[in-house]
Amino acid sequence: MEASPRSIAELVVQLGRITHGCGYSEGLSPAQWSALRYLSRANRFSRTVSAFAEFHATTRGTASQTVKGLVARGYLNRTRAPHDGRSARLEVTDNARAILARDPGEALVRAASALPPSARNRLATGLERLLGHLVQGCHKRPFGVCTSCAHLEVTGWGREGKPRFECAFFGELLEESELAQVCINFEPGKDSAMKRAFS
Ligand code: SF4
Repeated sequence: MEASPRSIAELVVQLGRITHGCGYSEGLSPAQWSALRYLSRANRFSRTVSAFAEFHATTRGTASQTVKGLVARGYLNRTRAPHDGRSARLEVTDNARAILARDPGEALVRAASALPPSARNRLATGLERLLGHLVQGCHKRPFGVCTSCAHLEVTGWGREGKPRFECAFFGELLEESELAQVCINFEPGKDSAMKRAFS
């Protein structure tokens, strides 16, 4: 039987609701877990209060309160952002990395890993397309990683024949380890399912 669009929407909302409800642990709120999760995966251009506010679809004031509590508990440090001296960059501390090993959001990761690989791939593509439509309709930023971003360029080759990557948006070289980090300025590239959804 074909799944109706409404049943899919209800399932996605229910997944979010249950995951949110599991997010009261270790004395943190679901929003604080979301901030730690985001900031541990965000790239150097995106580890700010305003970027987290956009990612979490909340106001800058609310995001600021969330971050303030995490700084006070020693889970985040504020440093100056080199590309923008006016805004503070947020860095997760070793204590935060330790607590992230007990992230209640891992329940959803475990549920996803119970699916066979083919079902996971189909689900990932479908969810990415859903997200693309929602992001466009609600005028939100898509967020994503360099490997499927339109701004990623190969500028040459290193000594061992490895490609050198640059971000055309920021005009900065990227380390290979940064390519899988989440970015606020992500623009879906041609290989992205989000892009394919609108082509
Ligand atoms: S290539 Fe795209 S995702 Fe990567 S840093 Fe640049 S804008 Fe961000």
